[in-house]
Amino acid sequence: MSLSAVQRIFLQAVASNGAFKVAESKDILKDICGRVDSAYTDETYGETVEAINAKIREFNQELKTIMYPPEKANFLVFINLTTDAMNKVQFDKPKQELDFFRDLLMAIIKSEEKYIGILDATNLVSTNKGKALTKSRAQAIIEEWIEEKYFFEKDYQITLGPRAITEFSNYFQSEFADEVNSCPLCKQVSFWGLTCTECKEEFHRDCITTYLKKKTDCPFCHAAWNTPVNQ
Ligand SMILES: [Zn+2]
Ligand SMILES: [Zn+2]
Repeated sequence: MSLSAVQRIFLQAVASNGAFKVAESKDILKDICGRVDSAYTDETYGETVEAINAKIREFNQELKTIMYPPEKANFLVFINLTTDAMNKVQFDKPKQELDFFRDLLMAIIKSEEKYIGILDATNLVSTNKGKALTKSRAQAIIEEWIEEKYFFEKDYQITLGPRAITEFSNYFQSEFADEVNSCPLCKQVSFWGLTCTECKEEFHRDCITTYLKKKTDCPFCHAAWNTPVNQ
């Protein structure tokens, strides 16, 4: 089955923006429906995302909903599911930009709070091997990557954006096994999750909250769970 006009326009909007907060994406869909004179009901959003995914999975793409802690909001993210997303380079950047992108991911992941200053980020170009980027070019592409939702900026600090977290999940687990935590419940990478006071395993807030609706222990070490889950 091919996509309807509404589904096509919505997919284009999310793909070109990289990600939207779920609340925002519902408004966008409602607006598209209004423009092409198509009814919008409570089911439209879920049905639209489902129909799009049924179509684009054959191209290894997906619209995925994730909880993104830095903004305390759910995001709808457009991702490439290719196992080697990093090498496949759906953003066909020159090699030195890709190296810089990798260095940036690494610096953020290795930092204590998973945030680095914009200035420190642009300074990473000088440590780049081979043909270095200029700092002004570095600044400009960081801006682009923020726009594309690969990074997120707050108070002159940058961190991993909703798209980097989702799309490079496998890459993080294979390349940064010592630095990233994987949630024992869903096996996906977890940043800013909740940590068990006993075993120090880190869980996604959503995953552990769901688990604790039925149990009271840590899913990993089975000690009593005593880290507050509410924010
Ligand atoms: Zn999880
Ligand atoms: Zn534990």
